[in-house]
Amino acid sequence: MKTILITGGAGFIGSHVVRLFVHQYPDYKIVNLDALTYAGNLENLMDIEDEPNYIFEKGDITNEAFIFDLFEKYDFDGVIHLAAESHVDRSISKPLEFLKTNIFGTVTLLNAAKDKWQDNFEGKRFYHVSTDEVYGSVDDGGFFTEETSYDPQSPYSASKAGSDHFVRAYANTYGLPIVISNCSNNYGPNQFPEKLIPLFINNIRNNKALPVYGKGENIRDWLYVIDHAIAIDMVYHKGKNKETYNIGGFNEWKNLDLIKVMCKVMDEKLGREEGTSEKLITYVKDRAGHDLRYAIDAKKIMNELGWKPSLQFEEGISKTIDWYLENEEWLKNVTSGAYQQYYDEMYKER
Ligand code: NAD
Repeated sequence: MKTILITGGAGFIGSHVVRLFVHQYPDYKIVNLDALTYAGNLENLMDIEDEPNYIFEKGDITNEAFIFDLFEKYDFDGVIHLAAESHVDRSISKPLEFLKTNIFGTVTLLNAAKDKWQDNFEGKRFYHVSTDEVYGSVDDGGFFTEETSYDPQSPYSASKAGSDHFVRAYANTYGLPIVISNCSNNYGPNQFPEKLIPLFINNIRNNKALPVYGKGENIRDWLYVIDHAIAIDMVYHKGKNKETYNIGGFNEWKNLDLIKVMCKVMDEKLGREEGTSEKLITYVKDRAGHDLRYAIDAKKIMNELGWKPSLQFEEGISKTIDWYLENEEWLKNVTSGAYQQYYDEMYKER
C-alpha cells in the first residue's frame, strides 16, 4: 500500500484531487493535510470522510516540527503539494503571508521529504502543483510553453515562481525526485467565492453589482477543475522525473465576454428576461499590475501523457452555475465564516 500526502486538500482544487485519488486508488492511503484557513473547508469532502483509505490531518505546512513529525508518522511514498495562499488580490495587500506559506511552507515540505527519503529516493516523488501566472503576461498572441522564461508580476505569482525554483533546486542539488505542473485558471464546484466565477454567480443571484476590473479586457484560459484533477493524477503517475507540464483548456476568454455569457446563462436559469443580469456590470479601478493575457500551450501533456480536457466550456459553466445555485447553504456558510468557527471549535475539543 502506498501512502500519499496531499496538501491543501480541503481547498478548491485539492478537494477534487483528494476525492479522485481516494476513489481511484483504494490501495493507497491518502493523507490530506490542511490548515483550514478561510479557503479550506472539510465540507468539500463530506462524501468521502468515512472512506477507509482517507485520513485528514489539520496542520500548517510552515510548522517545521509538525511537518517533520508527520513524515515520521506516515512514511509517505509521495507528496502532491497544493496548499497555498492563492488569491492575487490578497497577495497585493499581504505579500508576506504569501511568501511564508508558498515559499517557506514549500521548502519545509521539501526538507522533510529530503530528510525522510534521503537514503532511498526509489519510487518516491514530490509533485508541486503550480500556476501559469509564473510566466507573466503574454500580450503578443503567443502561448506559454514549458520553456517560457519566468516573469511573475504579482506577489502571488512571485511566491509560486519562488516555490517552483526551490522544487527544481532540490532536484538538482539533492537528487529529490520531483515533477511540476503549471495550470491555467480553474473553475467549478467548491471554489471560494472571492474568485471571479463564483463571486459573479453569487452576485448575479443576489442582484448585486458585478465589479469588472478596468475595461474587462484581460484574457484568461479556463479549465474545469475536475479536468485539472485528472491531469494531476496523470502527471503524478506518468510524468517524467524533473519535468514540467503545462495544463490548460485552450479556452481563452476576455473577462467581459465571460461575464456576459454567465449573465446570459443565469438569466435563463433564473427565469429572468434576457439582458437583466448584464445591467449589474460595474467597471472598477483595475487591479495593480494586472497581467493582460495568460495563454497556456498544453500540447506536451496532451502528446506525452494522453491528457485532454473532457468538458466543453459551455457544459462546464452550466454545471458550475447549477452547483452554486443548488448549494446556497455552502455559499452562505463559507462567506459568513460559519464553517471556520465550526472547525475551530471541533479541533479545539480534540
Ligand atoms: P485554495 O485557496 O482554494 O486552497 C488552498 C488550500 O490550502 C486551503 O484548503 C487552505 O486551507 C490550505 N492552506 C493554506 N495555507 C496553508 C498552510 N500554511 N498549511 C496548510 N494548508 C494551508 O486554492 P486552490 O485554488 O485550490 O489552489 C490550489 C493550488 O493550485 C495552489 O497551489 C495554487 O497556486 C494552484 N493553482 C490554482 C489555480 C486556480 O485557478 N485556482 C490554477 C493553477 C494553480
